[in-house]
Amino acid sequence: MIYAIMSTSFDSNCYIIKSKKVALVDSGINPEKILRKINELNIGIDFLINTHCHYDHIAGDLRIKEKTNAKICVHKIDAESMEGNNKEETLADLFGCKFSGIKIDLKLTDGQMMDLGKIKLKVIHTPGHTRGSICLYEPKSKSLFSGDTIFSDGIGRTDLPGGDWIKLKESIERLLKLHRSSGVEKIYPGHGSIGSGDDIEKIYRIYFG
Ligand SMILES: [Zn+2]
Ligand SMILES: [Zn+2]
Repeated sequence: MIYAIMSTSFDSNCYIIKSKKVALVDSGINPEKILRKINELNIGIDFLINTHCHYDHIAGDLRIKEKTNAKICVHKIDAESMEGNNKEETLADLFGCKFSGIKIDLKLTDGQMMDLGKIKLKVIHTPGHTRGSICLYEPKSKSLFSGDTIFSDGIGRTDLPGGDWIKLKESIERLLKLHRSSGVEKIYPGHGSIGSGDDIEKIYRIYFG
């Protein structure tokens, strides 16, 4: 079961994925919203998986950790920026916010499977927006949690520290390949509305075609 907590401001969308275990994809800047939702559902959180190290996706991590003891997970490259409190790469300065770094419990690598029970999430390293950006693919419902790599109506910025247009193009080509071979049904992006797999084809043509 997927519960979407859509952003109403500049923070990120957050997604709760519930199987035997529960994963939260990104904590956004308003963790109380998430804590209210899990109270309502009467569940905990086992894994907090950050799609990348940007402040608008990770600001609530400490609060969620404190309340749920979830394991904080992020790709090993962005883990360095979060643990080392690299304010340039986390954009904490840009957002004018204090961030004092956070310990990462699980440093993810490409191809790793996150086992939630019946639901499994595959980690796909998709650098370009940040060096350690990931997407998560859930093969049963063919759902792609795409962070800020690709949205239903655009692509992630590459002009921020760690951004790289060529790498983003290659990453989106990987997602396109996944869609063409497996038929991605839904995209759950870090910002904006939920999209379909065909949006990957459309966006690729618009930006890189
Ligand atoms: Zn974002
Ligand atoms: Zn971002």
